[in-house]
Amino acid sequence: MKFNTKTIHGGQHHDPAYGAVMQPIYQTSTYAQSTPGGHKGYEYSRTHNPTRNALESAFASIENGKHGLAFGSGLAAIDAVLKLLQPGDEVISTNDLYGGTYRLFTKIYENFGIKFHFIGMENTKKIEDYITPNTRLIWVETPTNPMMNVIDIRAISTIAKNNKLLLAVDNTFATPYLQQPLELGADIVMHSVTKYLGGHSDVVMGALIVKDDALAEKLYFIQNASGAVCGPQDSFLVLRGLKTLHVRMQRHCENGRAIAQFLNNHPKIEKVYWPGLPEHPNHDIAKAQMKDFGGMVSFVTKGNNYAEAIRIVENLKIFTLAESLGGVESLAGHPASMTHASIPKEEREKTGVVDSLIRLSVGIEDIDDLIADLTQAIG
Ligand SMILES: *Cc1c(COP(=O)(O)O)cnc(C)c1O
Repeated sequence: MKFNTKTIHGGQHHDPAYGAVMQPIYQTSTYAQSTPGGHKGYEYSRTHNPTRNALESAFASIENGKHGLAFGSGLAAIDAVLKLLQPGDEVISTNDLYGGTYRLFTKIYENFGIKFHFIGMENTKKIEDYITPNTRLIWVETPTNPMMNVIDIRAISTIAKNNKLLLAVDNTFATPYLQQPLELGADIVMHSVTKYLGGHSDVVMGALIVKDDALAEKLYFIQNASGAVCGPQDSFLVLRGLKTLHVRMQRHCENGRAIAQFLNNHPKIEKVYWPGLPEHPNHDIAKAQMKDFGGMVSFVTKGNNYAEAIRIVENLKIFTLAESLGGVESLAGHPASMTHASIPKEEREKTGVVDSLIRLSVGIEDIDDLIADLTQAIG
């Protein structure tokens, strides 16, 4: 089955009870048993729920995996991966990382005796310098947030395999429409489903997808034992959202390209970060690894003025000033005062998060309206 068919049919079957074409919302916590242990495969909804299970097999299908697991948020999914580890274990992670992931690693799991090394991974060779006998996991986010660095998943998977390490990839920004990490050698794919997979800014959810049966069994055990599952109503909304993933992504990419080019030619804009631009430092690996370049675009204005960046995001009318990304509607954010405000100025500027950096999640509205909005806001 091709990807554009999988988003609609992958892992799905019509409901056996009445033949409903759409997966029903099984809003139940428990299931009747005819005799103790005599049930139809479902006992309690933390462990199994038909609506969630349908979504989980859809996740497995679109990522070319074998097993999918849905969680109450992206961070809950990451938390489940970290629970594979033990005190004394070490993790090598991308340094330009989603802030909540960094917080989970450093403020929760460091307290449990896990050691993290945060490094730039654009040069994959550097990773080997940080591998010790205690290293268990490499955590990769690509493209990164908000600087849009692109990391070579296949090269890192070779390092992981040679050293018997698990490789997990946060595929939230790219989605399986653009890149499929399991095909490039990763062991675990993670999603903040809240973003593109849900696609309509109405659900918070996370996912893990794996191929290996033994690894899946460990993660299912953690999912049930820790209990950070999502509900049937949210599972239904995401099943609905997934059906248009390929069509939405196609438009996100088209609009992203047009806006990156528009900003790149704008006299008041200093620099544009979008992996599809030939001058992007990781353009070659992006071209090799991704089908297209997505709808996330960051830029800085000439003069790098904090107040001017605030003025621009406040003036936008169609772009909404808000956290998050990946919905059908366009959003704008100012990392220095929003997502990255808690990081000291010198620290954030080292990774490129300067005062005038603005991050756009380009939606699927008409491109003429989006460009007109940016034109009037930049002035
Ligand atoms: C939003 C996000 C997360 C966290 O997901 P939640 O659903 O908010 O818990 C993790 N990684 C990336 C890249 C994200 O954008």
